[in-house]
Amino acid sequence: MALIVQKYGGTSVGTIERIHRVADRVAQAHRAGDQVVVVLSAMSGETDRLVKLAHEATPMPDEREMDMLLSTGERVTIALLAMDLRGRGINARSFTGRQVGIITDSAHTKARIARVTADRLREALAQGIIPVVAGFQGINAQSDVTTLGRGGSDLSAVALAAALKADRCIIFTDVDGVYTADPNVVPAARRIDKIAYEEMLEMASLGAKVLQTRSVEFAAKFNVPVEVNSSFKEGKGTLVTREDADMEAVAVAGVTGDRNQAKITIVGVPDKPGIAARIFGPVAQAHVNVDMIIQNMGQDSLTDLSFTVPRADLRKATPIIQSVAKDIEAKSVSITEAIAKVSLIGVGMRSHSGVAAKMFEVLSREGINILMISTSEIKISCVIDEKYLELAMRSLHSAFGLDQVSQGDHPAK
Ligand code: ASP
Ligand code: MG
Repeated sequence: MALIVQKYGGTSVGTIERIHRVADRVAQAHRAGDQVVVVLSAMSGETDRLVKLAHEATPMPDEREMDMLLSTGERVTIALLAMDLRGRGINARSFTGRQVGIITDSAHTKARIARVTADRLREALAQGIIPVVAGFQGINAQSDVTTLGRGGSDLSAVALAAALKADRCIIFTDVDGVYTADPNVVPAARRIDKIAYEEMLEMASLGAKVLQTRSVEFAAKFNVPVEVNSSFKEGKGTLVTREDADMEAVAVAGVTGDRNQAKITIVGVPDKPGIAARIFGPVAQAHVNVDMIIQNMGQDSLTDLSFTVPRADLRKATPIIQSVAKDIEAKSVSITEAIAKVSLIGVGMRSHSGVAAKMFEVLSREGINILMISTSEIKISCVIDEKYLELAMRSLHSAFGLDQVSQGDHPAK
């Protein structure tokens, strides 16, 4: 008998019809003999609706009250599902975050989990009850309701799975897993059977929004096997787990594209010690995250410095850079928004050499100019002209052998 945590997202519980279908799945796992703990999100759109209401009440809602409000969305779905199951003669019970002992700090609206007692869950399971738990919420040391940040019910599920030492935490969502690239951009993308926590984290931070990032960090820390699967169709999903030999055997696991960056170049920067600190100090103070930085070899003790910042922060960063550029007597500042970052991700990069060289070759073959490069142990990113992003993603996806082989086809050569 396995202990499984099943988490269903907002679209999966968005209507009563869909809640019936969730009840079908829970009942099925229960009949198969598994012990099941269910974690739910609010109905899709509900949390947004509540946030909007709060801002109609007052422009800057108090955060403790905000959590009191937002935590209600999940109470609705857990009660409805528990009723449905009980109506079918299945012994289910709903529980709030407080009742299952999800204890957090006091950072309202983005609380961090401090510990999970889960006593009531263990009791319920021992009595053969199916617990249906409200995701996204906990309580602080004063017993005030807290929430874990948007998308936080993934984290609730993983944290409960860790506390109960569950065999698996299944995240049921509207996609059937994690793909080698965004299928909307790369039609040949395929579902990945198994992906390492670290790869998933890189994919998530680069724009693949399947799992909340903090839930993946938590799963990695406590080694919780997480499966992402569709709540709408039967079939295999993607297992997010510890790195293994299969994963290391392939150099590249996925390709991502990111259009959320902008590039700033300061031309004619005096090439002397202390200048970089004078430029990036004020940028950091304004809480603007600088991603990539390159400094070109200069002439006549002048150099050019380029870096990227999130597009959303460009308005904040521009006046700061312009004023620093003046102070240090640089020649000019130029800004380009029409850039994009294409990245290759894979734990196999640690043991495969030549991935970067091949990436550059593929891009050059397509006539795509590389503006900036950055690498880490398991990732290589190139900044390119935004208009070539889709072409770059498709060519790299295919060159690194990630394309789906359709039935009847045989791989070339
Ligand atoms: N209902 C919350 C949200 O919309 C939590 C979640 O769905 O994971 O952010
Ligand atoms: Mg979600």
